[in-house]
Amino acid sequence: MMKLAVFSAKSYDKHFLDIALQQHHPSFCQITYHSFALSSETASLAQDSDAVCVFVNDHLGAPVLQTLHENGVRAILLRCAGFNNIDLKVAEDLGFFVANVPSYSPEAVAEFAVALIQTLNRKTHRAFNRVREGNFNLEGFLGRTLSGKTVGIVGVGRIGLAFAKILHGFGCQLLAYDPWGGDEFKTYGVFVELADLLQRSDIVSLHCPLTDETRHIMNEENLSRMKKGALLVNTSRGGLVDTKAVINALKSGQLGGVALDVYEEEGALFYNDHSGEIIHDDVLMRLMTFPNALVCGHQAFFTEEALGEIAGVTVGNLEDFVMKRTCKNSLVREGHLMVEMDKEPVRL
Ligand code: NAD
Repeated sequence: MMKLAVFSAKSYDKHFLDIALQQHHPSFCQITYHSFALSSETASLAQDSDAVCVFVNDHLGAPVLQTLHENGVRAILLRCAGFNNIDLKVAEDLGFFVANVPSYSPEAVAEFAVALIQTLNRKTHRAFNRVREGNFNLEGFLGRTLSGKTVGIVGVGRIGLAFAKILHGFGCQLLAYDPWGGDEFKTYGVFVELADLLQRSDIVSLHCPLTDETRHIMNEENLSRMKKGALLVNTSRGGLVDTKAVINALKSGQLGGVALDVYEEEGALFYNDHSGEIIHDDVLMRLMTFPNALVCGHQAFFTEEALGEIAGVTVGNLEDFVMKRTCKNSLVREGHLMVEMDKEPVRL
C-alpha cells in the first residue's frame, strides 16, 4: 500500500484529504499526518514513505530533497499552486515525481483581496471593536467610494483576472501590468507599463508569481512612484514586497495603507499560534503598529470550495503517480522540467 506523509497538516487538511481519499480509493493509501513543517530537521520523519505532501511554507531545498530521496520517497505532492519553495532542478535530477494544484478557486483569493481593500478603506475591523464597546462615534472611519477609482493589477492570470471582474463590477477603472497578459483582461481595462500603473492607481494589487524578476517588485523606488496616499494589497507572495521599504513609505505618508495576506518572512510564524511567545520579528511587529496596515496569515485561499479542490486534485496527482499515468499537473517529467524558471513566465 502507498504510504504518504503529509507535512504542515492542520485539522482542515486532514478533513478534506480524508474525504478526497474516501471518494477515490480509500484503501490505496496509508497517510501519516505531521503538524510540523518539512525541513532539514524533519525530513528524516518521511522514512518509509513513498510520497510526501507539502504546503507553502515547507522548504524543499537540495538538502531536504536529498534526505527524502535517501529515505525512499519518490513523489512530492504540493497542495498549493506556488512552487517557489522547491528546488525543481534538483528534484528533477533526483528523479522525483512533483505535482502541484495549479488552480483551486482563483475567485477565493480575488474575493479576499477585495475584502482586504474594503477593510482597510472603510475600517470595518475597527468599527467591529468600537461598536461592541458601546461607542458609535464615526471619527477616524472616513473611507473613499471605490466606484470611479483607478485600480492597478500587477499580473492578470487566473486570480488577477477574477479580481478585475469583481472590481469592474464596483465601477473601478482598471489598469494592468503583465508582460504575458492575455486578451481577456482587455474587456475590463487596459494594459500599461508598471511605472504608469503605479503613478495612476489609487489601489495597487499584486497577483504575479514570485520569481527572481518579481522579488521586491514593490521596493523603495516603485513605492515612491505610487500616487501619494494610495493603497497597496499583496495576496500573492510575501517576497514581492520589501517590507522595510513599506514601513518607511507608511511613516512618510507616501503610502496611504497596506494590506498583506503574505509576508516575506512568514515561514517562521504563519499557520501556528505564537500568541504566548515573544515574537522576534521586529519588522513585522513594527508594521503591525500602523493603524493603516492590515496583516493576515496567508488565508486568501481558505474557503471550503478551495480546500475541497486542493484535496481532490492532490489525491488525483497521487493516483497518477501510483498508476504511472501522465499527470497534467507534473512540474517535472521524464527528466524534463515542465517549467523553465528563468525563461518563460511561470504560471503558478
Ligand atoms: P497565474 O499563473 O494564473 O497568473 C500569474 C500572472 O502573473 C500571469 O499572467 C503572468 O504572466 C503574470 N506575471 C508573471 N511575471 C510577471 C511580472 N514580472 N510582472 C507582472 N506580471 C507577471 O497565477 P494565479 O493563479 O493567478 O496566482 C497568482 C499568485 O497568487 C501565485 O503566484 C501565488 O503565489 C499566489 N497565490 C496566493 C494565495 C493565497 O492564499 N494568498 C493562493 C493562491 C495563489
